[in-house]
Amino acid sequence: MQKDDLLRLIHDPNLLPSDEQILISRIAGQAATMDMPCYVVGGFVRDLLLGKPVNDLDVIVEGDAIKFGRSLVKKFGGKLTTHDKFHTAIWHLPSTVLGQRLQPASLDLITARKESYLMPGALPTVTPSTIEDDLLRRDFTINCMAIRIDGAHFGELLDPLGGQADLEKGMIRVLHPRSFIDDPTRIFRAIRYEGRCDFNIEPETLALINSESLDGVMRLSGERIRHELDLIFEEANSSKMIQRAGNLGLFEKIHTDLPLFNPEYLDFLDMDPTLDIPASRPAIGYMFWLMDLMEDGIMSIAERLSFTSDLTYSVWAVSQLKKSLPFLINSRPSVWSYALEKLPLLSIYVVYLASRESALLDYLSIWRHVKPHTTGNDLKARGLPSGPRFGEILAQLRAAWLDGQVKNPQEEKELLNTLL
Ligand code: ATP
Repeated sequence: MQKDDLLRLIHDPNLLPSDEQILISRIAGQAATMDMPCYVVGGFVRDLLLGKPVNDLDVIVEGDAIKFGRSLVKKFGGKLTTHDKFHTAIWHLPSTVLGQRLQPASLDLITARKESYLMPGALPTVTPSTIEDDLLRRDFTINCMAIRIDGAHFGELLDPLGGQADLEKGMIRVLHPRSFIDDPTRIFRAIRYEGRCDFNIEPETLALINSESLDGVMRLSGERIRHELDLIFEEANSSKMIQRAGNLGLFEKIHTDLPLFNPEYLDFLDMDPTLDIPASRPAIGYMFWLMDLMEDGIMSIAERLSFTSDLTYSVWAVSQLKKSLPFLINSRPSVWSYALEKLPLLSIYVVYLASRESALLDYLSIWRHVKPHTTGNDLKARGLPSGPRFGEILAQLRAAWLDGQVKNPQEEKELLNTLL
């Protein structure tokens, strides 16, 4: 790509908001003052060349990123968090830089570095180096491009590994045959980029997803695997990706009981919940994935994937509710409500999607909001001594409303008189 074309992309406010353009030019100016070669890299360059709005802004310097960060803070304000071991810093931006409002609120500043893996699957050791070495430590050619921004170099594209050509061909290609062995999380990443951009994993790269690299997935920690699965579930196209991951044999390496994703539920992954309940796409994903397993299987997979206790409970609740549906069907609303009351709303919603049992939707949209008019204070005023009868009476009044035995405050009062 010609420098002019690239500059046009960088200056396109549909791809890069103007406040971020200003931020980049401030950083570029400061880097030039310090004679420090400075680049934006990775997803920024990939998305820009794809003509997509840019999300992440990662800045790399050939030199000391911490020193660079300190100079930015001195000149423009804000705060710096430093990670000496990794030679990186996070610049927490001031709310304005030279009068301009800024997004995002913080920015990663990274020292160009070389990585070596002491053990496959372990985290790498890091030493400062050149931008070329930094690009060589990355995952796929499409992520291995940089744009130099300091001074007169502004807008020079570095593409030593043919990233632009692979972007044009729609190929996900690793840099060397040991890439997936060094870091098996890259297998998940390859699947994610492939599905997101409607690309293909290049044939030689695909052949490297073999028994040796897949065995590496077995050694990954639960946190790292779950992070990758969460990222997949967050994608708009996650159904395609989760199917691909299953077909490539990833799941049995994560846990021997982890099944393929049930094709009947795949479409639910790509839709957003329409009800007004707190939801997260990954949580919905795990619920559909594991709902038909036995309790032991769910618990063991939840442990392998380091689920939080809330997530484990929600997934378990889905499986229990689904199994108990045959016993609840045709029950009165008060019986449904009693059975559902303690369960997470999202679990109920997921079972509704899987079963289309209308009582579940009635509970979520109507029944759970039904309350008697009488309150605990009213009962006290009527002279009821404290004790468990309070809760029982209020529950009976609520049940009467739910089941249509009471339809107005007068009828509620009459029922209350019979209960006191
Ligand atoms: P996304 O849009 O998915 O966030 P991104 O390219 O910004 O894409 P990040 O996960 O933020 O992805 O990573 C930033 C860059 O770091 C990537 O572009 C890639 O070059 C590099 N990278 C991330 N993870 C790995 C990895 N496991 N191995 C090698 N390089 C990686």
